[in-house]
Amino acid sequence: MTLSEKLVQIKDALPPEVTLVAVSKTKPETDILEAYRTGHRIFGENKVQEMTQKWENLPKDIEWHMIGHVQRNKVKYMAPFVSLIHGVESLRLLKEIDKQAAKNGRCIDCLLQMHIAQEETKFGLDHSELEHLVDSEAFKTLQNVRVVGLMGMATFTENLEQIRKEFVHLRTQFEKLKVRLPEIHILSMGMSGDYPIAIEEGSTMVRIGSSIFGARNYS
Ligand SMILES: *Cc1c(COP(=O)(O)O)cnc(C)c1O
Repeated sequence: MTLSEKLVQIKDALPPEVTLVAVSKTKPETDILEAYRTGHRIFGENKVQEMTQKWENLPKDIEWHMIGHVQRNKVKYMAPFVSLIHGVESLRLLKEIDKQAAKNGRCIDCLLQMHIAQEETKFGLDHSELEHLVDSEAFKTLQNVRVVGLMGMATFTENLEQIRKEFVHLRTQFEKLKVRLPEIHILSMGMSGDYPIAIEEGSTMVRIGSSIFGARNYS
């Protein structure tokens, strides 16, 4: 199957309320254009510099999602165009996004990243850090940044029950947060290996890379 056939097949099988982010990190612009020609417009990248380069070269109606870990000093490069930042895990980063968004006359949508996996290496907030963040006075004063949901990554494991448990946990955090922040509506969970489980457990946005574009080659 070609890249565009794979994309269309995956997309057609998603429930209508689930948004697909096609994760194009490390992949060439020609691949993104092939996906674009099927009508797809939402792409995810995990490096600010790579995303900015692609944004400069590719059609301007593409929605770019930053799905990787973000360093504060890189926010300024994507602030003019990024549609959604998935991996926000500190107030300091939110403040920087707020500042750079204001400079660009924009309001930038963000997701707070929760730590749900067993691995130490995966970024994100725990339950009490999340509460602390959204309860802070500084959070309430942010003008040019809008928290619209949560994001999380499950443990990389064959143990499907473990993965499901982690997604259920994230979904529970999401429902709880919604009581305080009724405007949140995006639950970003699920990748190539685990998105069917994520959808069963309430995901509204899946981030799929290798199942569409093929394995990545980090050389
Ligand atoms: C790379 C990446 C994905 C996509 O992973 P695949 O397994 O290729 O689908 C999803 N989410 C994040 C945060 C990523 O870094």
